Amino acid sequence: MRKRKSSPPRSKNSSSDPIRVVVTAGPTRAFIDPVRYISNLSTGRMGYEIARQAATRKNFRVTLISGPAALRTPPRVRLIPIVTSNELEKAVMKEIKAADILIMTAAVNDYVPVRVMKRKLRRKQNSVTLKLRRANDIVARVARLSTKPVVVGFSLETENVTAYTRAKLKRKNLDLMVGNQYSRRENPFGNRKPSVLIVDRSGESIRLPKQSKERIARHVLSKALAFLRK
Ligand code: C5P
Repeated sequence: MRKRKSSPPRSKNSSSDPIRVVVTAGPTRAFIDPVRYISNLSTGRMGYEIARQAATRKNFRVTLISGPAALRTPPRVRLIPIVTSNELEKAVMKEIKAADILIMTAAVNDYVPVRVMKRKLRRKQNSVTLKLRRANDIVARVARLSTKPVVVGFSLETENVTAYTRAKLKRKNLDLMVGNQYSRRENPFGNRKPSVLIVDRSGESIRLPKQSKERIARHVLSKALAFLRK
C-alpha cells in the first residue's frame, strides 16, 4: 500500500508494481445460539464478478474475502472464507495492509446479538427479546486509517437512494459508493440486472441504467483505478 499524505488516494510507485485488490462479498452471519443466526439475502454475485474481472487484468493480484456463498471462486483469485462480521473485520484489517484498492460489497450485519447463547434456545416462552448491538463499521474503520487503499463501498436502500448513498459516502469517508435500490419492482440480489448510482468523493455521480453485474463490475473497477492513478 502506498503512503497517502492527505485524504485523497495516493498513486502507484511504478507501473510494474502489481495492483492489489481486496474484494469482500456475500453475507455475514450473526449467531443467536449455536445453530441459529441473523443474516440477509446477499448471494455474493456482485463481489465475485468484481474479483473475476479484476483477476483477468494484467498485473492484478486479487483477494476475495467471502461470507457463505454458493458460487465458484473465479480463476486466479485467492479466497478467504469468513462467516461472521468479526471474522470479516479481522481478515480485512490484515489484507488491506498490502492493498491498493478495497471494494466492500459484503452485506455485513449492522447489528449483532449482545450475547450468543451457549445452548440452543428452547421453545418455552411465548415471546423472547433479543438485544442487539451495533457492529463495527469495517469500511469506515479502514477509511479512517492514515495509510489506506482506495476505498469503495456498496449500499442497498429501500428509499432515498441518492440522498442516502451520498450521505454514506461522506459519513464513512469513502472514495466511491455504489447505491442499489431494493423494492418489489427492483430487486438487485443474485443474477439480476440492477440499475445503480455511483457517487465519488469529488461529488460526481453517474446513474447506470439496468445492466449485468459484469458491466457494473467493469465500471466500478475503472472508477477505482482512476482514483488510484490520481
Ligand atoms: O451503512 P451501510 O451498511 O448501508 O453501508 C454499506 C457499506 O458499508 C458496504 O460497503 C458494507 O460492506 C459496509 N459495512 C461495513 N461494516 C458494517 C456494515 C456495513 O463495512 N458493519
